[in-house]
Amino acid sequence: MLSPLATGIAAGAGLTGLLGLAAGGYAYAALWPPSTLFGQALIAPPRRGELALTFDDGPNPAWTPQLLDVLASHGAQATFFLVGRYAQAEPALVERILAAGHVVGNHSWSHPNLAMTAGVRVHLELAQTRDTLEQITGQRVHWFRPPFGARRPAVLKIARSLGMTPVLWNAITNDWSEPSADRIAHRLTAKIDRQHRNGWAANVVLHDGGHLALGVHRGPSVAAAGQLLERYESTHKFVTLDAWSDADRRL
Ligand SMILES: [Zn+2]
Repeated sequence: MLSPLATGIAAGAGLTGLLGLAAGGYAYAALWPPSTLFGQALIAPPRRGELALTFDDGPNPAWTPQLLDVLASHGAQATFFLVGRYAQAEPALVERILAAGHVVGNHSWSHPNLAMTAGVRVHLELAQTRDTLEQITGQRVHWFRPPFGARRPAVLKIARSLGMTPVLWNAITNDWSEPSADRIAHRLTAKIDRQHRNGWAANVVLHDGGHLALGVHRGPSVAAAGQLLERYESTHKFVTLDAWSDADRRL
């Protein structure tokens, strides 16, 4: 029996995913967030009005501190999917994220495309990052987001074997290359509102770092996060992924 959450995910994947695969769309199915053909991952529960802001590719000493200030000014908590090698380089910043009440997740050690990576290296990427984060924070790491959203069943199985639940998203735009904070916020708002109309929580991706280098410019993403906090603070509840732990257990 499928739970409402699993049903929602399956309905989103369904026929289109199968057709994509039949058309030789391996990459399509491996990269498309709602596809369950490559294993199940948490996207969002059917909880209208909950909004999880998630930030990938940090910690970034150039922009994560500003982002923490923006979140603090709204009293909101978020989830940070950290690149292991950056966390190792910036342990004090990881501690600051935790101290502010946010949740950190595993985004691999070096951000490869895990759909194209041998299992033994996938295990190393995830385990090394998990161990580094746990050493810095003294807390278990419960969440894993595959770089680029790229996965196959073995990747998700390895993540679960290391005690982590795979997470994707349902609201994203090209914030890493878009110079206008207004346009980033506008595009994400349309997606958040659509999830809301359909009765789903929003799982929003923004980037406070970049996988190619430490210290990249993320001013537009941080400003867009501020705009979303302004827009939704009276209508939505900002949650970390820990608020959805029970939802994931129903999968
Ligand atoms: Zn990433």
